[in-house]
Amino acid sequence: MEKVFYEVNSLDKKCYDKLALTEDILMEHAASSIADFIEDKFEEKVSVLIVAGPGNNGADGIALARLLYKKYDVKLYLPFGAKSQMARIQLQRAELLGVPFVQSITSSDIIVDCLFGSGLNKDLDETSLSIINSLNEQKAYKIACDIPSGVNIKGQINQEAFFADVTVTMGALKVALFLDEAKDYVGKVKVANLGVQRTIYEEETNIYLLDKEDMKLPFRSKKNAHKGSFGHLNVIAGCKKGAGVIAAKAAFGFGTGLVSVVSHEDIDLPYHIMQTHFLSDNCTAIAIGMGLGKYEKDEIKKILEEDIPTVVDADLFYEEVLLDKLQKDVVLTPHPKEFVALLKLCDIANISVKHLQKNRFEYVEKFCKKYPNTVLLLKGANTLIGKADKIYINSFGTAILSKGGSGDVLSGLVASLLAQEYNSLDAAITASLAHAIAANNYKKANYSLIPADLVEEIRRL
Ligand code: ATP
Ligand code: MG
Repeated sequence: MEKVFYEVNSLDKKCYDKLALTEDILMEHAASSIADFIEDKFEEKVSVLIVAGPGNNGADGIALARLLYKKYDVKLYLPFGAKSQMARIQLQRAELLGVPFVQSITSSDIIVDCLFGSGLNKDLDETSLSIINSLNEQKAYKIACDIPSGVNIKGQINQEAFFADVTVTMGALKVALFLDEAKDYVGKVKVANLGVQRTIYEEETNIYLLDKEDMKLPFRSKKNAHKGSFGHLNVIAGCKKGAGVIAAKAAFGFGTGLVSVVSHEDIDLPYHIMQTHFLSDNCTAIAIGMGLGKYEKDEIKKILEEDIPTVVDADLFYEEVLLDKLQKDVVLTPHPKEFVALLKLCDIANISVKHLQKNRFEYVEKFCKKYPNTVLLLKGANTLIGKADKIYINSFGTAILSKGGSGDVLSGLVASLLAQEYNSLDAAITASLAHAIAANNYKKANYSLIPADLVEEIRRL
């Protein structure tokens, strides 16, 4: 897992103050990183249009033009001239070398967006907006320098932003690259080292980007085992029993030895999933909330009082009966609308879904600070998993999952791992990664995945 930062100015400062590196050195490394990326990926002579803004993001671009000049067909476009001191220095160097300039956007194989960096703190003016729109219309491989222009330091897009195929970000990963809003714009994210190894340059943070290695799938190493060795999950099925059955199937396929669906009415259940009317005596985990509807409050209260690892989803985020449970070690898996309801229920905030989506990290932090024993898994294009003062980002998610039932599979996976004695945080992390990575492995048309396919893919991981 990699560290992610809110803002990186302090990191630059560390380079200057503590390591005696200069702005010039950092900038040369920034430009070289993008040059290396282009040289690794593209043949000589392809055309590269570099669009450079007036500040230091632009200065990176001017330096890049100098580095690529002669090997590639480079054109430099400076719609606002060079204003910052470093931009002027870089411009002088490019001019001395004879780098060609253009006065408008020209068609090219590669576009490098160096208009504005993560320092963008106001709305784009009309000229910038129209440049960004025109760049987006171009058919070219698109690279963003540091952050796509138009995405601000919080990852918000107020009007429009550059659509990058790849973002080469400077020095360290930034939270702004992982807000859901930014996901369509940033493309793949690569980090440029700025003159020292990143591990030296990077400071402490409480935010981490998960990678595939953080997925710790269940493994049956013990030979002397029986079904009871792998837990007994009880899924509480409410009125929409389909949701509970989806969760139960997912859990069964993810290794839980015994899965029971608790329901008052008879349900058709596949494989060896059992039905009970009450919690089983040997129950090792509970999944509750999906399709719950009008379940008797007293019954829910009793189930929540059990000292058994529990995952809570869906309808329960609207119910006061949940409040006591939030003091305990429990996994919560809300989607944004449910999280907004939960924040209101807990008296943390009364906000709209739109506001939440623009400030996802802040509200996960707020919630986890108030309820440090819970694990909060906020679903979305990038899922955030919060525990106490830490946040883990799962950026593997794909729109293949945007379909009813995907969330029920996820809660089933978390519950499955809880039943198999994972701790809450590990269960949430591994389940979330497995869910997203399995969806990425799906080979049929990307609109066609249904929960059963997802469970199939998870069983193949
Ligand atoms: P509902 O709760 O509305 O009945 P559901 O439980 O299937 O339906 P959600 O609870 O919203 O739906 O869960 C959807 C799951 O799919 C989440 O894990 C979410 O992160 C994932 N997902 C949906 N759309 C995307 C996307 N565009 N990118 C990444 N992941 C996505
Ligand atoms: Mg759901």
